[in-house]
Amino acid sequence: MRHITIAIDGPAGAGKSTIAKMVSRKLGILYVDTGAMYRAVALYCLDHNIDYKDRQTVEKNVDDILIDLLYQDANQRVILNGEDVTERIRTQEVAKGASAVGALKSVRDKLLHIQKQLGAEHSVVMDGRDIGTHVLPQATTKIFLTASVEERAKRRCQELTNKGIKNDFNWILQEIQERDENDSTREHAPLRKAEDAVEIDTTGISLEEVVKKIIDLLP
Ligand code: C5P
Repeated sequence: MRHITIAIDGPAGAGKSTIAKMVSRKLGILYVDTGAMYRAVALYCLDHNIDYKDRQTVEKNVDDILIDLLYQDANQRVILNGEDVTERIRTQEVAKGASAVGALKSVRDKLLHIQKQLGAEHSVVMDGRDIGTHVLPQATTKIFLTASVEERAKRRCQELTNKGIKNDFNWILQEIQERDENDSTREHAPLRKAEDAVEIDTTGISLEEVVKKIIDLLP
C-alpha cells in the first residue's frame, strides 16, 4: 500500500481522537495520539512533584522522561519510564499539565522527533495541535476540526459521564477555554490551522459523515 499520512488538528473536544481512530480503522493504518505524549510528560511532573509551570526544572528533567508508544490491536498504549500509563493520563489535572508543558520548547523538540519518525516509518492518522503545521508538513491530507466551545464541553461531560466520572459543565467549559487560549497563544508551535488544511466544523454532524468527508479528501 502507498504511504499515507493524515494530519488532524483542532482544539480540545472537537472530536479529533474519535474521528482519527475511525479513519485509521477504515484505512487499516496506525492512529497516533500525540496529546497522550504531552500528557505523559505532565504525569511525570505530577508523579515527581515537579511544578509543571516551572520551566527550568521541567527542562532539567526532560532527558529522564522516556516515552514509548506500543500498538496492540491498533490501540495505542503509552509507556512512561517502563510503566503503562494509558489510563492514568486521562484526568483533567493531567490535561491541564499537558497544556503547560506543551508550551516548552525542550518538551516539544523531544516529542516532535518521535512523532516525525512514526510518520516517516508508517502510514498514520496523527492528531494533535501542530501536526499539519510542524510534525507532518508534507501530510497527504490535513484536516482542522472545530466545534463550538459549548458543544465541545458538552461532549467532554458526556464522555466522563459514560466512564462513570462525576463532572460539572461550567468547570469543564472553563478548563477547555483556558486550554484553548493557552494552546493558541503559546510561542512554540501554537494551535493553528495549516494553510492547506481543510476545516470541518463537527457541530451537529455525525461522526460517520466526518469520517466519510476525510476519506473522500484523500487523493
Ligand atoms: O489532545 P489532548 O487533549 O490529549 O492534548 C493535551 C494537551 O497537549 C493539549 O491541550 C495541548 O496543550 C498539548 N498538545 C500539544 N501538541 C500536540 C498535542 C497536544 O501541544 N500535538
